[in-house]
Amino acid sequence: MEDCLFCKIIAGEIPSTKVYENDKVYAFRDIAPAAPEHVVIVPKAHICCANKITSENSSCVADIFEAIPEIAKTVGVAEDGYRIVNNCGKNGGQTVMHLHFHLLGGSSGGKMY
Ligand code: AMP
Ligand code: ZN
Repeated sequence: MEDCLFCKIIAGEIPSTKVYENDKVYAFRDIAPAAPEHVVIVPKAHICCANKITSENSSCVADIFEAIPEIAKTVGVAEDGYRIVNNCGKNGGQTVMHLHFHLLGGSSGGKMY
């Protein structure tokens, strides 16, 4: 999709520090980390946000969660644990309108709820 930052990152048009890639999923280090280990995990298909997940495209969420254990292992947080966050829309604090999950680890973030 034109003018989507994460689509450009997936296409290699904008540089990123890749952590993991398969045919459906791409993961890279967040440019402004909110935790010692902060990875952004995206489906390669453009879906704007959680509001647009349907029975037709929801397999991308499974693809991401199937990749998470390996991503966590790669960045060294699998054993101590981590948080997975999705921000949706304005009130959710979403700033890039391409569905993504944050993996946050490397320190105890405490509970958010
Ligand atoms: P959100 O605010 O949930 O939409 O998350 C978007 C995330 O993308 C933020 O944590 C940003 O720091 C991150 N981000 C924005 N631009 C880049 C970039 N060029 N490379 C890596 N991460 C980025
Ligand atoms: Zn996109």
